[in-house]
This record gives sequence, C-alpha cells and structure tokens, in this order.
Amino acid sequence: IYPTKALQEMDAAHHLHPFSDMKALNQEGSRIITSATGVWLTDSDGNRIMDGMAGLWCVQVGHGRTEIADAVHKQMVELSYYNTFFKTTHPPAIELSRKLAELAPPHINRVFYCSSGSEANDTVFRMVRYYWDQMGKPDKKVIISRWNGYHGSTLAGTSLGGMKAMHAQGDLPVPGVHHINQPYWFGEGGDMSPDEFGLHAARELEKAIDEIGENKVAAFIAEPIQGAGGVIIPPDTYWPEVQRILKERDILFVADEVICGFGRLGRWFGSDYYGIEPDLMPIAKGLTSGYLPMGGVLVSDRVAEGVVGKGGDFNHGYTYSGHPACAAAALANLAIIEREGLVERVANDIGPYLKERWLKLADHPLVGEARMTGLVGALELVPDKADRHKRFKDVGVPGLLCRDISFENGLVMRAVRDSMIISPPLVLSHEEADFLVATAEKTLNDTYRILKRDGWMG
Ligand code: PMP
Repeated sequence: IYPTKALQEMDAAHHLHPFSDMKALNQEGSRIITSATGVWLTDSDGNRIMDGMAGLWCVQVGHGRTEIADAVHKQMVELSYYNTFFKTTHPPAIELSRKLAELAPPHINRVFYCSSGSEANDTVFRMVRYYWDQMGKPDKKVIISRWNGYHGSTLAGTSLGGMKAMHAQGDLPVPGVHHINQPYWFGEGGDMSPDEFGLHAARELEKAIDEIGENKVAAFIAEPIQGAGGVIIPPDTYWPEVQRILKERDILFVADEVICGFGRLGRWFGSDYYGIEPDLMPIAKGLTSGYLPMGGVLVSDRVAEGVVGKGGDFNHGYTYSGHPACAAAALANLAIIEREGLVERVANDIGPYLKERWLKLADHPLVGEARMTGLVGALELVPDKADRHKRFKDVGVPGLLCRDISFENGLVMRAVRDSMIISPPLVLSHEEADFLVATAEKTLNDTYRILKRDGWMG
C-alpha cells in the first residue's frame, strides 16, 4: 500500500511515538512492518521475516486470520461499544466469561476485564488487599514478587515487576512490595544441581514470609515461566515447594498467565502445566492473539466470594472492560485455538519437534545452555563454553548484536541480557520450525565470527 520511499521518510516519524531503546532508534532508524500472515512479517522494503516472537508473545493463531477480523466487523456493526458498569452487560462479554470459566481450572469461574496485562496486575494489587480487608485481616498488605519478573508498565505493574532499570525511573517500587530471587539456575544456581537450586529458590519465599510476618503478607505473584526476564524455566522442584509454602501460610497465589496462558506451554494455562492452583490469574496477550487489546483477572471462587460475594463490592471497571469488539475477537481466537487443536499441537507435535532441534543448538561454541518448554525457548550466549559461570565483559552487547543479525537473516528473536529468546505462533509448521532453527544457527555462526574477531570470546 505504501511506497517504500514514503515509508523511509516516515521513518523519522517513529520519533513521534518514542519507545524504549531510543539510542538504537536514533542510530539506526526504525523498522516498519507493513503486513503479516501466518508466522511471516513483511517490512517496508518487502523483506519477509519470520515472527519468532509471535509479536510480543501473543499471536498464538498467527497473523492475518480473517475469521477474527470478520467476527470483529460483525460485532462492530451490531454493538460497537457499551459498558459493563452498573447493571449493563452484553452478549460477547457474557459468552466470553462463560468460555473462560470453562477453560480455567475448576476452582476459577469469575473474570474481571480490562485492556492489558498491566491493568490486570493493577487490578490484582488492589483486589488482594481488599480481599484480606473483607476477611477481617487488614494487616495483610505486602505482595511478594520476584526480581526479573515482568508484570507490566503501570505503577503497580512496574512495582510488582522486578526490573531494576524500570524501578530506577520513578522511584519504585511503591511501598508494600517485597522482591525475592527467581529460580534462574543457569545464571544463579552456582554449583547446586537444578533440583537443589529449585528448592533453595522456593525456600527464599518461606524466609521472606517469616521475616515480614505471615500476618502481613497478602499474596505472592509470579509468572509460571518468567518471559521478559529471559525465559526462566524453573527446576522441577520449584513449584511444588512454592505451592506447599503458600498453602501452609494461607497466602494468596497470583500466577501471571499473560505469557504462559492460552497454549504457550502446551496446556491452556501455565498453571495447568505445572499443576499449581493459583487464586488469581492475570491474562492478556494470547486471549485475543493480540488482534485487539484485552486483559482480565481470572478469580477463584474463594476470592470472588470475598470481593463480590457476601456483601463485598470491589470497585472495579474500566471504560473498556469487556469491550464487545475485543470480546468478539477473543471468542473467535479461542474458537480457532480449539478447532485447530493448537494447545495439543504444542504439547504433542510442534512443541517436541522444535524442542528436539532447538536443544541441539547447545552444541554451538557460543551457546552455554539451550532450553525450551512448550513453544517458548532461550539460548544463553557465553564467552567460554567450558565455564558455565563466565559472562561477557559487557553484558547485553553480544545479545543485541545477535538479535540484529537474526533480523537481517530473516528471523525475529529477542535479546534479554545475552539470552536469545523465541516464542513463535502456535501454528508454526514443521518446515517453518526447520527454517527457524537453521536461521538461528546461521545467526549464531555470524555472531560468533564477529565476537571472535573483536576479542569477545574466551
Ligand atoms: N505480565 C506479563 C507476564 C507480561 O509478559 C506482560 C507484557 N509483556 C505484562 C504482564 C503486561 O502486559 P501489557 O503489556 O499488555 O500491559
């Protein structure tokens, strides 16, 4: 639709909507994605690039699904907007709530809608405190979360998140949030085995609760697998121990399913995958496959009883909570996931197929560890394969180099520190998985050559 030259001139216009990574943007200009279909993006120069990140971990069903566009169009014509405040609601919100209750674990049957993962976690922040107020335990206010976690970009989301660089902007976290370490064995496991380290990391939670006082802790929030923190897959011992601690101490468990939900790990939710039983599950992203912005908090019967049952009247609601067009997009998206068996596909077909090939990249001289669960994976780049604990002298620089080379080679990977991350759409075919792994390998070779030449290795 757009001539390339006009787009290049528009390039400067990216500065009109600045984003993070301004330094790179100023040096290199922006990349303009003009269309997409399936797992493939097209940029303003006509290049075809594989979307190895499903947009931002969200496009489960792939790009360009006309069923979703049609459902949204139909809904827009019928009822483009009405609110879900006071006593009004509308069919798409009702139908979607029913569907979510059906898909969620049996003890979870309520949803509070919003427009994003960040808003979902804002809702969580207030809801867990209100719940304990209602239970006659108003001192239970502290929320424990983890360093390196990501829970959004609002005040509550950034505070609950564990990104120190974000905390530094705005004097965060807000009071009442306490961070513990994440179960990142490759980075922080020292000489412990993964299983030993999993228990060690879980017991840090127990220690924190003891220090703060059980009667002051409202909730623990965590992603089943940390996504933006670098695809941190916890050792097998971690979640059972965390769940035991939280149950014993009667502390609410918030599993942030914004990335892990809707099939990413080969089950409907990351909580199903790990067999954990959260009280609250913030959702977004894969709910609509990113076609329209929508989020929510899935709420257990126990918490619902406290906040909206028995005289509870939790003040919740945004202008766009349960937006009809977004709910229609979500319903169409979930129908595709079900009809095409995408969750089962991740568990039994494309997930294991890609994992087998991805893990072989661990043999590359630049790679210290390759890991993957479902369709989310990472490669840890290291300067010296023989020494697992050694890191590059300037952490993050090799990762960004590798990310940019990957894009030039035709594959979107994301860099977190010096880990290369992928999270492709669930519709990825075997041939596309082969392309992904071959391009990742070529990218590792190209990156390795430059790093070696410039004295980064060893
Ligand atoms: N939680 C998690 C686990 C996320 O990964 C994200 C976004 N990357 C969020 C919350 C925030 O979602 P949003 O960007 O839609 O506000």
